[in-house]
Amino acid sequence: MSRDKGIIIVGAGECGARAALSLRENGYQRPITLIGDEVYLPYERPPLSKKVLLDEALPEIPAVLSDLVLSEQAIRHIGGASADAIDASGKQLILLDGRALAYDKLLLTTGAMPRRLPSAPVSGRIFYLRTIDEALALRSLIRPDMHVGVLGGGFIGLEVAASARSRGAKVTVIESQERILKRGVPEPIAETITALHQRNGVVVRCGVAVCGIEADERRVDILLSDGDVISADVLVVGIGAQPRTELATKAGIAIDNGIAVNERLETSIADIFAAGDCCSFPHSLYGGRRLRLEAWRNAQDQGILAAANLTGAARGYQAVPYFWSDQFDHTLQIAGLVDEGRTVVRRDLDDGAFILFHLDAEQRLIAASGVGRGNKVARDIKLSEMLIAKRVVPPIEALTAGVNLKSLLAKAA
Ligand SMILES: Cc1cc2nc3c(=O)[nH]c(=O)nc-3n(C[C@H](O)[C@H](O)[C@H](O)COP(=O)(O)OP(=O)(O)OC[C@H]3O[C@@H](n4cnc5c(N)ncnc54)[C@H](O)[C@@H]3O)c2cc1C
Repeated sequence: MSRDKGIIIVGAGECGARAALSLRENGYQRPITLIGDEVYLPYERPPLSKKVLLDEALPEIPAVLSDLVLSEQAIRHIGGASADAIDASGKQLILLDGRALAYDKLLLTTGAMPRRLPSAPVSGRIFYLRTIDEALALRSLIRPDMHVGVLGGGFIGLEVAASARSRGAKVTVIESQERILKRGVPEPIAETITALHQRNGVVVRCGVAVCGIEADERRVDILLSDGDVISADVLVVGIGAQPRTELATKAGIAIDNGIAVNERLETSIADIFAAGDCCSFPHSLYGGRRLRLEAWRNAQDQGILAAANLTGAARGYQAVPYFWSDQFDHTLQIAGLVDEGRTVVRRDLDDGAFILFHLDAEQRLIAASGVGRGNKVARDIKLSEMLIAKRVVPPIEALTAGVNLKSLLAKAA
């Protein structure tokens, strides 16, 4: 009987779906059950703040797995079902509807949820953005003659601002810090993004806090610390996300800024793994520093690694962190971890694009960040990512001048 339990994955997002597929690609033949509290098949989130809001035509749900693939791969997807408790000693997962499912191994890919604004009134005009339902509801309201307020100058807020402005709405971004993108993005890149938004007609207000919000079903008034009141038709709140740890906490699994896992993605309880936005893990490239990443590539990479380790590979996570964001006609990309106080070397590309190389005290390349129109910075960021993985100490003049990064890579090999 125990031979039929197989692996249960809780959280049918990017990471869970990728792990399920990868288990089959690795030749795992026993049952795989993918449980998600959303009613849809697993779908991509990056388009929710971009294509889904931007497109004239009603977009299709950007699915990661189709019914056909699920059936071909014999992956059982239980949608609209919330996992409520784990009986770790009995190796059972209990669903909210009372069903108990036995497992051999369990993978938690429960993701993250938007941080809520404390004491905001309940209103159909105040939005958070994590799910396709939220994106479609927001999309249905955006009109050229309306005013969209965006609270938070982070990636999601800025992407929504760019999409709403591109659809003709008047947009105001409110950021309490002295600049946008304060977390993990160097100042010159934030300045370029601010200028990009301003050129496109977005009002960016930094250094003002929100003192109060009044809303009904037609309008939202945002009261600011400098005495101004911004009257908007819609307010989108993008003030960060928090890992979904409820299930793990209830089961007694160690939590440390997310579900705490080791470099093999194992939690503190045997046979339970965690991966993606919900977990924090030690990263060997950064001296074992514990990180939690909210990034699409990380969700994919960790899903693949979890699948390997669930079937005994015992490999450590080593991928270089990578993130991108599309706003108007520009793309921003970051490989590695951008820390304040490091040496930064700038390389200018054509059309105003540039890359910043971030070096540690030994002049080792630890991160590269860049911004430019379209795909201008993509190649250099990709090569930088490989240099970071190889722990290269590049000659500084090779970074500033137009030396092809490929030649540095060849030397490193
Ligand atoms: C609007 C938006 C735009 C983004 N754009 C970018 C981008 O441009 N670039 C980039 O690198 N990254 C981007 N990201 C981040 C990227 O999408 C996430 O890092 C990725 O989706 C994380 O995948 P995940 O599977 O770990 O978590 P999720 O995608 O959040 O999936 C977790 C799933 O688990 C479910 N769940 C949670 N608890 C339970 C439970 N107890 N029972 C059942 N189900 C449960 C959740 O409902 C959810 O469906 C964006 C994210 C958002 C929201």
